[in-house]
Amino acid sequence: MKKWLAVSLLALWACQQTALAQQPYALVVHGGAGADPAQMEPEEIEGIKARITEVLSRGLDQLKSGQSALRVVENAVRDLEDDPWFNAGRGAALNSDGEAELDAAIMDGSNLHCAGVADVRRVKNPITLARWVMEKTPHVLLVGPGADRFGQESGLEIVNPEYFITERARRALRKKQGTVGCVALDRQGHLAAATSTGGLTNKRPGRVGDSPVIGAGTFADDRSCAVSGTGVGEEFIRHQVAGQISQRIRLTGVSLPESVRQTFADGLPDDVGGVIALNRKGEWVMHFNTVGMSRGVADSTGQFKVAIGKED
Ligand code: ASP
Repeated sequence: MKKWLAVSLLALWACQQTALAQQPYALVVHGGAGADPAQMEPEEIEGIKARITEVLSRGLDQLKSGQSALRVVENAVRDLEDDPWFNAGRGAALNSDGEAELDAAIMDGSNLHCAGVADVRRVKNPITLARWVMEKTPHVLLVGPGADRFGQESGLEIVNPEYFITERARRALRKKQGTVGCVALDRQGHLAAATSTGGLTNKRPGRVGDSPVIGAGTFADDRSCAVSGTGVGEEFIRHQVAGQISQRIRLTGVSLPESVRQTFADGLPDDVGGVIALNRKGEWVMHFNTVGMSRGVADSTGQFKVAIGKED
């Protein structure tokens, strides 16, 4: 009897291992829409591509070792927040008072748990703050001094507001869109999405964009897909872009690429931005209607791609 039990358990374990080995895993990253490689310094192009490559490699290793999609999207976005090349965390776009007000959101596709934070000024990594709001409070959106206070009380790293401000952001005269985002599929078959931004350069103090608004710039649902957006936040909120992409799949049964295509075709203005999206089969989309979007994808089939412009 004991022997029979041991054999059954072994068979069960072997089945699980085979299923795990077959489950595809993948992550897609964006570093913001709007960047025109033709207008960028070579060192900027190299810096952005190198960073996205690093983030993809690290994320792929984490997924391979069995880490959850949720953990992987948080880590990827944290790395990009710490990097001054991107409009998130350090290096974020500044408001009209020359200050950094940061927005971020995270969502777990396995259970629809999610949270956004907005107008954060002191917590070093807004994406981690969003994760803590999701896990440790009953709320889905925390803003302003209350969000910073929650981060401080929770023991997250707090910095002086000057930390976020770089000379480059101060000098940025053109509209700067360099939000960061990541979507991932793990070996357990779960999806997650994360987005972080300083918003639009010269925005009115107090303005909140789409990134921290669940269903606008960030969404994940194992039943459809995970999405992170970048672009003119007001339009993404109006059109509920990330949620709309998911709902079209669930309610009409269209494929992921078709859902993204239809969502953009259905009233979104030209030159508005882009999205990255991923489903449980490991199918992904990196779509934008701006001149460029920093982006990259890596998956368990060996695919690895990093690009900025349309021609890449
Ligand atoms: N979507 C962001 C916002 O409107 C900006 C961006 O993606 O660059 O806040």
